[in-house]
Formats: sequence, C-alpha cells, structure tokens
Amino acid sequence: MNRLHRKRNGIARALFKRFRISLLGNPVLTMTKASCESNANLASGSLTPGSLSPDCGKIPEPLAHVLTVDVEDYFQVEAFAEKVKRDDWEQYPSRVDANTRRVLDLFDEHGARGTFFFVGWVADKFPELVREVHARGHELACHSYWHRTIYSLSPEEFREDTRRAKQAIENAAGVAVNGYRAPSWSITKDCMWALEILAEEGFTYDSSIYPIHHDLYGVPGAQRFPYTFQFQNGRKLREYPPATLRFMGTNLPVAGGGYLRIFPAAYNEMAFRVFEKDYAQRVVVYLHPWEIDPDQPRIAGKLKSRFRHYTQLKNMSSKVGRLLKRYKFTRFCDVLAAEEASQILNGHAVETAGVSAGVTAR
Ligand SMILES: [Zn+2]
Repeated sequence: MNRLHRKRNGIARALFKRFRISLLGNPVLTMTKASCESNANLASGSLTPGSLSPDCGKIPEPLAHVLTVDVEDYFQVEAFAEKVKRDDWEQYPSRVDANTRRVLDLFDEHGARGTFFFVGWVADKFPELVREVHARGHELACHSYWHRTIYSLSPEEFREDTRRAKQAIENAAGVAVNGYRAPSWSITKDCMWALEILAEEGFTYDSSIYPIHHDLYGVPGAQRFPYTFQFQNGRKLREYPPATLRFMGTNLPVAGGGYLRIFPAAYNEMAFRVFEKDYAQRVVVYLHPWEIDPDQPRIAGKLKSRFRHYTQLKNMSSKVGRLLKRYKFTRFCDVLAAEEASQILNGHAVETAGVSAGVTAR
C-alpha cells in the first residue's frame, strides 16, 4: 500500500472513531407518512437498530449483502447528457456488452450473484447479453428505457418508458422483471408519484431513493433501511435504499458507484462492519460496467462530470473484487423472498407518526 493510501485509510479510521458514537447512540431512522400528488398513501416503515424485531436475529450468518449493477453504456450517463443526445447513441462505439461480461467474470471468480438493472435500450440492442446475465444466475431488473431522470418526465411519459423497458428485458430473456432502479437515483420528493406507477406496472420492489443531499438526486431524510410503500388501492412496493453512513446528523453515501471508486477502501469497508455488527442490515452495493473500463473514450463534459465519471476507473475492478472476496452477496429477489418467508415484509412498524421533512410532498 502506498503512502497516499495509508494516509487516506488513516483519515477514514479517525473519522470513523469520531462518528461511531453517533451511529450507535442516535440511530436515524424515521417512519415516514407522506402524501403525494397522486394521492397515494405512502405509509412506510422501517426497523431501527434500537428496535430490531426478533426476526432479524434469524438472518443467517454471515449476512449477505446485495450486489447490484446498472447496465448502461459510458455515453448514456446523466453526467454527459448535455453533450450526448439520445438520438446519437447509435453513433458511439458501444462497450457495454464487453464490460458487462467482464463484470460477470469478476462475479463468477468469487461465486457472487447479483441483480442487474438493464437500460431497456441496451436490452433491445444486446438481447444475448441479457440472456447471458440470466443464464449465469443473476437477477434481471429494470433501469428505464432511455435513462432519463424521472423528475424530468410526466407520469404518462414515465409509465410509457417503464413499460417499454420492462418489455424489452422480459422479451430478451423470457423471464419476469420485478425490480426497478431509476436512472441517477432520480425518484425525488418531486416525483414520488412514480412509485405507485411502478406498483401498477407489476414491480414488487424499487431501489431508487437515495437518502442523501446531492445536487442531482436524493431525498434527504428518507429512511436508510428497507421499508414498504403501501398504496390506497392495496398495492405495495418494497424500497431498498443504497447504503449510507451517518456522520454529524448527515447521511453520507458509501459503497457504490463513484463513492466506492473514489473514497478509500477503509471508508467503504467501514460500512460493512457497521451494517453487520450494529444494524444487522445489508449493504446495497452498486456499480456500472463502464466503471471497470479505464480505456473508454473520453467525453468532453463539465469538469465536475469528468471528475465523477473518470476518477479511479483503474482501481474499481480490484476494489469490487476485494469486497466480493471478503463479504457474502446476494440478489434482491432472494432478499425479498427471504423477507416474505419470514414475514418481515411490512410487519414491524415501530412508529407511524413522524413525517420526514425531506419526503413530505409539496
Ligand atoms: Zn444509470
């Protein structure tokens, strides 16, 4: 390990010592009850570390975390959306097929299975890849068709895009798709109506609500651990937030995408320790096939976008490999099935009155 790495890891450890107290002493979990424009009754519940139900003790050891991949090409990301028009996608040399196969090989090396959220456009263009992912034991899920932010769409546009994507993936592999992840975590307080549409379109779970402050996405104040939306028409949608750590009253993103790539390994692995030992919860890890491709063509975007997209591409593969070696991972469909089997699903509301400011509809 070079000096820079040692220094970074030292800082991460020092940081952790300082805020561990707040992690243990002040668990931040809220029950939210929010209404939204679609009048859905978004009552949601979550377990807190301080009030874990007896069922949580039955989760087999070691706790399996959730491994997820958003299958999109390097030119489809939101960071470069201003530079790359969707009409021009065909003209860019595609690398998603080869990169996703490298991800598959990496997972195979460690016997890890995960959930692959496909962009519908990619599924239409590479149906063989969709079949390959399924054949190698992974779950297929949906990452929209055109990779547009949900808050930029009308409910009708969102429904149409979602249907088209779901169909493309299902047609390619001949299996049902039940999970959804919004492009760029773009289900925010302005478009909570999307959740009920997902339930209406046959999705049973979603993993799109990032409980952090960010310039492009996030619902600060949203719950950090899995919870269930229950709608007035009786439909439900299980929500699986990506992992966060708690520091001085703020949720910090960890263990996914750029945060996994750019932040020190010690910071990311801290999340696994805290989630396993203190929370008895699973870390939801996410990555993109382009993140393990340091040779991808460069797009001349804004400095901030280039920093977020291109930093540490060289090290991502080994960072992910290290996690796969040290921790056990599984797919969302397995987690959902296990929760249903043990009747955890929506079964342990500990409190229902709190309204989280970040989630309250405008
Ligand atoms: Zn994406």
